Amino acid sequence: MVQTELIQIGGAGPAGLAAAITLAKAGRRVLVHEAQSEVGHRFDGDFQGLENWSTQQDVLDLLREIGITTEFATLPCSRSYAFDAWGERYDLVGSKTLFYMVERGPGPGTFDTALLEHARGLGVEVRFNSRLDNLQGTGILAAGPKAADAIAVGYHFETAMENGFWVILDDELAPQGYAYMLVMNGRGTVKSCMFSGFKQEHLYVQRTVDAFQRLVGLEMVNPRPHGGAGNFHIPARALMGIHPVVGEEAGFQDFLWGFGMRYAILSGVLAARSQLEGNNYDLLWRQEIEPPMESSMVNRAIFGMLGNRGYRWVLRRNQKQHWDAHRVLHWIYQHGSIKRLLLPWARHRYRSQRRDESCDHINCTCVWCRHGDHRLVGAEKTCDS
Ligand SMILES: Cc1cc2nc3c(=O)[nH]c(=O)nc-3n(C[C@H](O)[C@H](O)[C@H](O)COP(=O)(O)OP(=O)(O)OC[C@H]3O[C@@H](n4cnc5c(N)ncnc54)[C@H](O)[C@@H]3O)c2cc1C
Repeated sequence: MVQTELIQIGGAGPAGLAAAITLAKAGRRVLVHEAQSEVGHRFDGDFQGLENWSTQQDVLDLLREIGITTEFATLPCSRSYAFDAWGERYDLVGSKTLFYMVERGPGPGTFDTALLEHARGLGVEVRFNSRLDNLQGTGILAAGPKAADAIAVGYHFETAMENGFWVILDDELAPQGYAYMLVMNGRGTVKSCMFSGFKQEHLYVQRTVDAFQRLVGLEMVNPRPHGGAGNFHIPARALMGIHPVVGEEAGFQDFLWGFGMRYAILSGVLAARSQLEGNNYDLLWRQEIEPPMESSMVNRAIFGMLGNRGYRWVLRRNQKQHWDAHRVLHWIYQHGSIKRLLLPWARHRYRSQRRDESCDHINCTCVWCRHGDHRLVGAEKTCDS
C-alpha cells in the first residue's frame, strides 16, 4: 500500500470512526462516508452503557491504550436496583464501575461527537449525506445492523429524577430481555429490550412505562418515542471481497444484553491494523472478538431459558449472598471450558429464535420488521411500499 492511497470507510458509527482514527494516526488519508446528515443519527440523544465488566482493565483505560478518545461525558454506574416480575427490589452493587453511561447522537459531549472530533482532528474527511453502496479500492465497511435480532423500544424524556439506572427482569415487559431506565443530568431513556415478541412491541413498551412509574416513580416530561435494532451474528468471515466488515454490519455484538459499542470500536481498530500491517483481519477478530462473543452467546441461551422464576432465583441469590455484581458479570463473560462445551447447543438454540421477520401492522413504524419492501437502514427501517 502506498502512503497516499485514499482509504474509504462506509459508516461514521463507532466502528467506522475507530477505524478512521487508527488509520489517520498512522498517516493514511481517510474518507468516511456517512449516509445521514450527522453522526449518531439513529440514536438521537439515547443513553447507553459502555460496559466495564468483560475485561479486568477499565474500559476507558483500554480505549486510551488503543488510541481512541475518551473526551465524552460519562456517568460511572456501579450500583442500582433490579426488580423481578413480582415487583420485589434487589440491590445491584459492584466493587468497580459496571458501565459508563454515555450519550449517543450528534450533540455536544456525546460518544459519537467525541469520535468525530478526534477523527477530524487527525485530518479524516467525514462526508455526510453520502451513502457508500459500492466500495472500490481500499476500504472498510461499517454500516451498522442489517437485521434485527433484538430491539430496544421506548421513550426519551426530560425529568427531575436523580441520575442512575434501574432494570426489571420480567418477560411480560421484555420477553427474554430486560426493561431498563437510564437517567443522566435531567434527561433519560426508558426501554423494553426484547429478544422475541417483537410484534407486540407497543404492549411491552406500555407495560414497561407503567412498571417504572409504579416501582420507581418514573416522571417523563416531553416523552419522545425512540427505538432501534441490534444484529448479533458470528460470521464465517468478516470480509466482503477484500474489504473488512466491522461493528454490527459484521454482526459483532453482545448476545446477552446488546452491549455492542466495545465490539464496534475494537473491530474498527483491528480492521485498520489489518490494513496497516497487512494482517489477515479474519484472524485478528477471531482472536479478540470471537471468544467473548461465544461466551455471550452461551449466556444468552441460558438466560433465554430462565423465565421469570429463574430471574427471581438469580436475583434472590445475589441479594442473599451479597454478590459483587462486577465480579459476577466478569466471571460469566469469561470463555472457559464449560462455555466451549455448551457452545454447539447455544448456537442451535440461538438460531432457532429467528423465524418470522414480518410484522402484521398496517402502516407500521416497527424498527425491526423485514416484510414486503421494508429494509433496515442502519437500524432504521424505511417503508418503501
Ligand atoms: C436502542 C439501543 C440501545 C443500545 N444500547 C447499548 C448500550 O447500552 N451499550 C452498548 O454497548 N451498545 C448498545 N447498543 C448497541 C450499539 O449502539 C451498537 O452496537 C453500536 O452503535 C454499533 O456501532 P456501528 O458503528 O457498528 O454501527 P452504527 O452505530 O449503527 O453506525 C453505522 C453508521 O453507518 C451509517 N450507514 C449505514 N449505511 C451506510 C452506507 N451505505 N454508507 C454510509 N453510511 C452508512 C449509519 O447511518 C450509521 O451512522 C444499543 C443499540 C440500540 C439500538
